Amino acid sequence: MEKPFRRSDLLGIRDLSAEEIRGILDTAENFREINAREIKKVPTLRGKTVINLFFENSTRTRTSFELAAKRLSADAINISVSSSSLAKGETLVDTALNLDAMDPDCIVVRHGSAGVPHQLAKVSRAAIINAGDGANEHPTQALLDAMTIREHKKKIEGLEVAIIGDILHSRVARSNIHLLTKLGANVRVAGPGTLVPRDFEYLIAREPCKKKKNKSSKTEERTSLTVCDHVEDAIENADVVMILRIQRERQNSAYFPTLREYSIHYGLTNERLDLAKKDAIVLHPGPMNRGIEIASEVADSSRSLILDQVKYGVAVRMAVLYLATGGSTQA
Ligand code: ASP
Repeated sequence: MEKPFRRSDLLGIRDLSAEEIRGILDTAENFREINAREIKKVPTLRGKTVINLFFENSTRTRTSFELAAKRLSADAINISVSSSSLAKGETLVDTALNLDAMDPDCIVVRHGSAGVPHQLAKVSRAAIINAGDGANEHPTQALLDAMTIREHKKKIEGLEVAIIGDILHSRVARSNIHLLTKLGANVRVAGPGTLVPRDFEYLIAREPCKKKKNKSSKTEERTSLTVCDHVEDAIENADVVMILRIQRERQNSAYFPTLREYSIHYGLTNERLDLAKKDAIVLHPGPMNRGIEIASEVADSSRSLILDQVKYGVAVRMAVLYLATGGSTQA
């Protein structure tokens, strides 16, 4: 079977076809079982080297990539910006070229600026995996979200997915919008007007939710992205409610008056969640701000799959490292 990536890099979901996305998810399913074993280690990537190059803070993603590499027996090295030569004035490309000279098989990069992984992919012989680039993409997050949804809903096609919060600055939202619409889900986004773009090229449908609900033609039903003026409209009848963190580190002006007001108008409470389908699931990429974008009662409820997302993240990253270093979807 063909490799699911057109190249060995994973720079974004935007570059992948639905078939390639399914290929990665199916491969991740195969790796899941290893994480449930008592001895969580297989020799699949023995002799391969993975460098985690993180210019931004990370708890889940960095640990998850490191665990994924180690469970596949790859040698994993972590570089954080404070200990690197960039602090001494070296350019990003020079750093990449120097790391590349040591022949790693894969470089996992997170950076505060959009496009850095793409820049490194041009000069590096190692496979580049995007672990989050500014407000652009976070492909492995969307893949682990998809794995969580598939596990609990048995499908993605035809699901109604509400994404709530700081859409504008969220790489998680972008990657998810690409992935979910490619796999046939209907995505509705909502949040403060200042944080919900209306003119991104991926905003396929711009009608208000109410209008969409009355649609009857099949072609219109296929419409996969809707901007809702109210959070309640987005959540109503949803199968999946995905809550985003306010990306304060990427905001340079006041997008809403106070956190308290944000929580009152946009926070996910049990009351708002009751508008969704009875069996709706709640996702959050973490780190979550309890009491701001999500109430503790929701975060800790049985409908919340936040820790499942983290669990599946390891399997997804195992699959991504495996495929990026030459594995095939038939693993
Ligand atoms: N951990 C995710 C990210 O790095 C989500 C977040 O930080 O809000 O984008």
